Amino acid sequence: MLQSVNRQAQAGRLANQTNEESITMGLFTKDIKTMDDLFLHQLRDIYYAEKQITKALPEMIKNASDQQLKQGFQTHLRETETHVKRLDQVFELLGKKASGVDCPAIDGIIDEAEEVTGEVENKNVLDAALIAAAQAVEHYEMTRYGTLIAWAKQLGHSNVVPLLNQTLEEEKATDQKLTTMAEAQVNRKAA
Ligand code: FE
Ligand code: FE
Repeated sequence: MLQSVNRQAQAGRLANQTNEESITMGLFTKDIKTMDDLFLHQLRDIYYAEKQITKALPEMIKNASDQQLKQGFQTHLRETETHVKRLDQVFELLGKKASGVDCPAIDGIIDEAEEVTGEVENKNVLDAALIAAAQAVEHYEMTRYGTLIAWAKQLGHSNVVPLLNQTLEEEKATDQKLTTMAEAQVNRKAA
């Protein structure tokens, strides 16, 4: 059952990839030659990741029991939609076409989250699993945006730095809120 759900999710992702015309890196040629190529590749990676997150969050909203957590996921879904739009602006400023490239890392994090949450029945435990999964996603995003900002500065693309920074700050704030909620949950249990 769980496996078939995962297969469906994977099939869905594959379909999405072709729809969104993801770029497959050549197997026999080295497509990333310069730091600018690498920067662009990483931008496309996070672009794909942000889009996958907008698809994963509705299910997390549905599964969350705690109202504050549900609300938090809803807020972050809207923010994540903004992150996609900001990346559209970044591509535009760089004079590049906005497109995604497969990001197996985010697919793995989301797959694992779906797998674990599918195994949990108790509402409080499920909320804890959702918080942990969401924090893994936020930390992934934080590391990506941190690198992108450093590279943008290094490569003279300072015009895109404020956009990337804004998103990074929202990811950090979300991570903080999740930590606060996780601690509150643990404290409630201990009381
Ligand atoms: Fe994001
Ligand atoms: Fe995020």
